[in-house]
Amino acid sequence: MVGLSKSKEKYLPLPPQDLVDLFLRTEEWSNSKRDQWGNWEHSYSSNYKQGKLWQPELDIWVKEVKKNLVNLGIELLSTWSEDAPFSVCLTHDVDILSDTVSPKQAMRKLKQYWCSEDQKNISTKIRRTLGLFKNKYTTKPSIEKTVAALHSIEKEYGVASTYFLFALPLHRISQHDCIYSLNDWVVYDGTTCSLAEVFKIIHSGGSEIGLHGSYHTATIPHLLTEQKIHLENALEIPITSTRQHFLHWEPKVTPQLQVDAGIHVDGTLGFNRNIGFRSGTCYPFYIFDRDKDSTLPLLEVPLIIQDGALFGSNALEFDPVQAFFVTKQLIDTVRSVGGCMTILIHPDMMLLDGVPTYYRNIIEYCLEHKAWFTTLSGMQNWWKNRSETLGKS
Ligand SMILES: [Zn+2]
Repeated sequence: MVGLSKSKEKYLPLPPQDLVDLFLRTEEWSNSKRDQWGNWEHSYSSNYKQGKLWQPELDIWVKEVKKNLVNLGIELLSTWSEDAPFSVCLTHDVDILSDTVSPKQAMRKLKQYWCSEDQKNISTKIRRTLGLFKNKYTTKPSIEKTVAALHSIEKEYGVASTYFLFALPLHRISQHDCIYSLNDWVVYDGTTCSLAEVFKIIHSGGSEIGLHGSYHTATIPHLLTEQKIHLENALEIPITSTRQHFLHWEPKVTPQLQVDAGIHVDGTLGFNRNIGFRSGTCYPFYIFDRDKDSTLPLLEVPLIIQDGALFGSNALEFDPVQAFFVTKQLIDTVRSVGGCMTILIHPDMMLLDGVPTYYRNIIEYCLEHKAWFTTLSGMQNWWKNRSETLGKS
C-alpha cells in the first residue's frame, strides 16, 4: 500500500504492534466468540470499543510513513490507475430477486426450513412455514426494480460493479441460504428470460459476476468449489471473485477454502451491523495465514459500507438521507488516505423509498472527486501487476 519498491524496503519502519494485531485480526484468531450467524461482529472488536471503527488506523499511519519517505527523496509508485486519488468497488450480493417469489422458490424455502441442520426448533419451523403464505406469488418474478434498476443506474453513469450470485444446487442446506436458481424465469427489461441469461447480459456490458458462496461454504470443504463450477458452467465465464453469504467467515478456515476453489479475490471482511474498517484499512491486501506463517494467493478487498448495516432494524437503522450523510463522511475518510471504498448494495434494498437516490448520490459524489471505479477482479489484476512492478524495481 506504500508504493515502495522492493529494493528500498529497508527504509520502511515497522508498524506499532497494536496496528499489526488489528490488521492480522489477532482478536478473531484467538477468540472463539461469534454472533447468532456464526460471525465476528463489530461490537467484539477492540477498535469499536475504542471508538475507532470508522477510522482506518493503519492507513493513517501509512500516510505519515509515505510523507516521511517522500521527504527523504524516495520515489513512490502511485496507488491507482491514472493517478486517481482513490478507488471505488461497487458490489451487490444477490440474495433476494424481487418482492414476489415463484412457487418453486417457496418450495425451496420450505425445504430449507425442514431439512437444514441449523434450525431444530419445531415451533420456529412451523411459524416460518406459515409465513410463506404471506408471500406474493408469481411464476416469473420481476427484477425490474431490483437488479435491473441497479444496472440501469450504473449504465447511466458508465461505471461497472460486481454482482455476487448464489449457485444451486446445494449439498448442505442452511436456513439462511437463498432460494433462486440460475434456471429460474424472471422478467427483465420487459421480457421473460432465465436468470442466467440476465447475468450474461450484465457481464457482457462490463460488470463482473462473482460467486456468493452459500452459508456453509465458509467452513465445510469442497462446497465452494462445487458452486463455483456450477456458476461457471451456467454463465460460461470464469469466476475468480467471491463474497461469503451473511459475511460468514472463519479466519482459520475460509480463506484456504476460497484458495482451494480457485478464487483470487474476496470481499467479505466487513460487518453486518456496522460500517467501518474491520482490519484498520480500506486498502486491498493479501490474506496472511497465521498457522502457516505465509501469505495466501488471495486478495482481500475489505467491505467498508453495506446497506444492511445502514438500514437494518437490528443495526444502525438510518433513513437514506442520514445514510448518505455518514457514507459521505466515510468516502471522505477513504479519500484522505487514498484508499479503496468498497460498498455493498443488495438488489432488493432498491425497493425501499430513497435507496435508488442514495445509490445515485454515492456514484455522483465519487465521480465528482475523480475516483477510479473497478470491479473486484479488476482490482485483483491491478494489485497483482502493481505488486509485480514494485518487486522488479
Ligand atoms: Zn448474501
